[in-house]
Amino acid sequence: TPRIFSGIQPSGGLTLGNYLGALKRFAALQGAGAETIYCIVDLHAITVWQQPEILRARIREAAAAFMAAGVDPAQSILFNQSQVSAHAEMAWLFNTVARVGWMYRMTQFKDKAGKNSENASLGLLAYPALMAADILTYQATAVPVGEDQKQHLELTRDIAAKFNHDYGVTHFPITEPLIEGVATRVMSLRDGSRKMSKSDPSDASRINLTDDADAIAQKIRKARTDAEPLPDRIEDLKDRPEARNLVNIYAALADETPGSVLARFEGQGFGAFKPALAELAVASLSPITRKMAEYMADPAEIDRILGEGAARADAVAQPILNRTKDVMGLLRSK
Ligand code: ATP
Ligand code: MG
Repeated sequence: TPRIFSGIQPSGGLTLGNYLGALKRFAALQGAGAETIYCIVDLHAITVWQQPEILRARIREAAAAFMAAGVDPAQSILFNQSQVSAHAEMAWLFNTVARVGWMYRMTQFKDKAGKNSENASLGLLAYPALMAADILTYQATAVPVGEDQKQHLELTRDIAAKFNHDYGVTHFPITEPLIEGVATRVMSLRDGSRKMSKSDPSDASRINLTDDADAIAQKIRKARTDAEPLPDRIEDLKDRPEARNLVNIYAALADETPGSVLARFEGQGFGAFKPALAELAVASLSPITRKMAEYMADPAEIDRILGEGAARADAVAQPILNRTKDVMGLLRSK
């Protein structure tokens, strides 16, 4: 059976981008004849500084968001990365397979390291080797992600192929990215050239899954747009990134095509479209926000669920890690 793996960093509160590009699809992939393994990747989050108390809360909040969005810990394995030590161990093994030059080419490293990249953490540079470890420690065959993670997934494939080649084995699968739908790259509400991100310093740039109805409506009202009416074809929005983004968000929330959304709003301006989008966003997100709050009211239960998920993940990961050690000539401990 296909095995699906994916993760989200607890590097901030989860956003509409994380929901449409990741969580909503994670839930939909459950029970479709695939094994689904979903992870809160705290070891990735600490590649940039995180306040410990806030991080601890964010990990539990992320778990609540997964479940509120429909990830069912009985159907999927849901756990927190640092609680399964195989991720860190496998990442070290991959640090010896991956090449330094591959890492410097990653656009996420360039974006997050900024101008003074010499001062970035070594972990931020090695991030894709840890991501390859997350995926390949489960020999996952498919990984649902947003468009921004495409380059990292290609690197995961390169690491798997180089490992298999260097050691003359067919140990690791060449994982397929699943980048599907109209919301694979939700853009910032303030800047149509940047993706919406939970770590963006501007709160107005994103919709958080914890935002209330008023905050959602206000952020959509203030979202950057233009003064043109909406056309009838999405192709006609190619030079209007902010407008295209809002139409795509509408389509993704409504499970419609952008074309059918435009068929309804053709000729209308944002004075009409934005309130309709706000209403749809509130209707779609408020049940999730409410369920998140319910889960977060019981942190001990979240910890119990994550503990159980970690034990199940460990049972899958350890034998694969041990076989990897055997292939490399390392002595295994058990
Ligand atoms: P950060 O700013 O800390 O990197 P992020 O919002 O980019 O946070 P990640 O934890 O890096 O979120 O990514 C989790 C998943 O969400 C990945 O699959 C990623 O591709 C997806 N994702 C992130 N942002 C978007 C977006 N704007 N549109 C669609 N998918 C997204
Ligand atoms: Mg990111």
